[in-house]
Amino acid sequence: GRVRTMEKVRTTCLYCGVGCQLDLNIGADGKLVKVTSEPGVIPNDGNTCVKGRFGFDFIHRDERLTVPLIREGEAFRESTWDEAFDLVARRFSGIKEKHGSEALAGLTSAKSGNEDNYIMQKFVRTQFGNNNIDHCARLCHASTVAGLARAFGSGAMTNSIDEFSDTPLIFVIGSNTTENHPVMGIKIRKAVAEGKTKLIVADPRKISLTDIAHIHLQQKPGSDVALINAMMYTIIDEKLHDRDFIKSRTEDYELMEAAVMKCPPEFAEKVSGVPAEDIRAAARLYAAAESASIVYSMGITQHTTGTDNVLSLANMAMLTGNVGKPFAGVNPLRGQNNVQGACDMGGLPDVYPGYQKVHLPESKAKFEKAWGVSLSDKPGLTVNEIMHDVGSGKIKGLYVFGENPVLSDPDTNEVVKSLKKTDFLVVQDIFLTETAELADVVLPARSFAERDGTFTNTERRVQVYREAVLAPGESKPDWEIITGVANRMGADWNYNSASEIMDEIASVTPIYGGISYERIADVGLQWPCPDKEHKGTAVLHQGKFSRGLGKFHPVDYLPQQELPDEEYPLILTTGRMLQHWHTGTMTRKSEVLHGIVPEGHIQISPADAGRLGIGPEDKVKVSTRRGEIEIAADVTDRMKEGVVFLTFHFKESPANALTIAALDPIAKIPEFKACAVKIEKI
Ligand code: SF4
Repeated sequence: GRVRTMEKVRTTCLYCGVGCQLDLNIGADGKLVKVTSEPGVIPNDGNTCVKGRFGFDFIHRDERLTVPLIREGEAFRESTWDEAFDLVARRFSGIKEKHGSEALAGLTSAKSGNEDNYIMQKFVRTQFGNNNIDHCARLCHASTVAGLARAFGSGAMTNSIDEFSDTPLIFVIGSNTTENHPVMGIKIRKAVAEGKTKLIVADPRKISLTDIAHIHLQQKPGSDVALINAMMYTIIDEKLHDRDFIKSRTEDYELMEAAVMKCPPEFAEKVSGVPAEDIRAAARLYAAAESASIVYSMGITQHTTGTDNVLSLANMAMLTGNVGKPFAGVNPLRGQNNVQGACDMGGLPDVYPGYQKVHLPESKAKFEKAWGVSLSDKPGLTVNEIMHDVGSGKIKGLYVFGENPVLSDPDTNEVVKSLKKTDFLVVQDIFLTETAELADVVLPARSFAERDGTFTNTERRVQVYREAVLAPGESKPDWEIITGVANRMGADWNYNSASEIMDEIASVTPIYGGISYERIADVGLQWPCPDKEHKGTAVLHQGKFSRGLGKFHPVDYLPQQELPDEEYPLILTTGRMLQHWHTGTMTRKSEVLHGIVPEGHIQISPADAGRLGIGPEDKVKVSTRRGEIEIAADVTDRMKEGVVFLTFHFKESPANALTIAALDPIAKIPEFKACAVKIEKI
């Protein structure tokens, strides 16, 4: 056959916070042929998972959006960019004039680049004139940001991915690492197999890491505070705590101790179902390690006690001096590729880029000067509050960029009802998502393979992705689309490239101060990176916490919002799986991934299935007080009796029609991980 020239373009994976470096191999026709990866490259050293290797054929799908669409009655018609920009700007400006700035809000995107997120929050703050900007970090790590910022002064992962090859003890809680952060999972598995690492796993399910764990604590969903407090009770009771560290580096220890001593392991056993002796054994193992690292994810954060859960983990790390040094720390794994970056860029209602608070006069003055406008010092609304105000008619105009709340938010029947009530809904995406179908105007964006930009991975490393293939139709980079709308609303922004936007980001964001495209072309840099000579920061809080002293918090166990009862006797917990990602917009369009897992299942224990007369693959009806779905059963001893599990990838059986919108009072994160449910065989 003909010899084809293959070009390799180095990029950053789009599918999770590990941020693997991949090479897109482009054929002579300008299309993606395959994905490879090179050993020796940080952070994945040539490893990838099935999503990174096979998950990108969505790029070339015919269903990609190619031109702007404008609603006409029930259908859409195609339009030019000029017409779409004019209409969007006119309608948003009209709403602002008639109903005031508070009637507008925007959702930014943890899937898009730092530059896009920076421009989106700048757009909302300068053109809408408020701080009503949020994104799905609210649904995943809002409690991390709230909890770790209170305890340490920074909401980010304290340590680095590379360290997991040599960490003496890893405590994984509420993270199905091998499925959701697979390359991290590979590192942990390898370190345990080589005898370098002892592993404790706390998870309501038997996940694949529990197969190799030294101790598995199989707690009931919603009982984490009791479990962790009881571990700390043991550590204090048996004098295994690090008194020097507590004295020199922390404050408020006594308050925390008083709360913990109310929670002996026997009490935690009653609440969590984990034997007291196992809790003691785990506490001893954790405290005895030369250094110990805590790894967690949504199993900790997505609760009405999410912030409390995070504070408890921070307490335990400080109690044993396991923070502020290599091979230790508290390490939240970020789910989406750029959820860290979207937060860093100020895609949150209370902070500008770099977590500079909107209510502080000095930050307001700084950004007013940089952007040449006057800004609001009133913190804006969170995702759930925005959806609530959309439903009540208070918010009339909404700009959704790269999010699909119809499938991703809790209690989705209410979300659809709310979105239908907006006067004007704009959705910017690469496909006509379930949310885009409800829009007045749909704006076609480019995927990560069709433009340049940066993502910040879970270990705070800012890395580049690059234009590798031709973009479909007239689609544009997100930052360019948002700039187009902003300029029609009266701004005068003249960005020529993503790299120019990064220079502006660096100039107003101290933790990104030393980042430029030139410096991160080969290897990304970990923030804080305050100046052009700084080499980046692998381990946070060394010598001193970001807030000065680390702060202990007294945390008491509180039950989940909705406990099982006679009518809804089981606990439903939700999550993700290896082969799919989020609402399936991209992975379900990949032939390989869809081929491996074409449909969803509900996981149920053999004991519960037996009692309900349910066999493998039987169709069942799953209902809660909020909705019902039909789905096939997966009867598996990986489930604990009384608990069932669903992923939220499949629109035919949408888990979030069932979940509860009850919120953590501080972080406003919904309780995706626990609600009461009933199952019947159909
Ligand atoms: Fe992509 Fe995450 Fe898989 Fe790496 S581990 S290839 S970043 S999905």
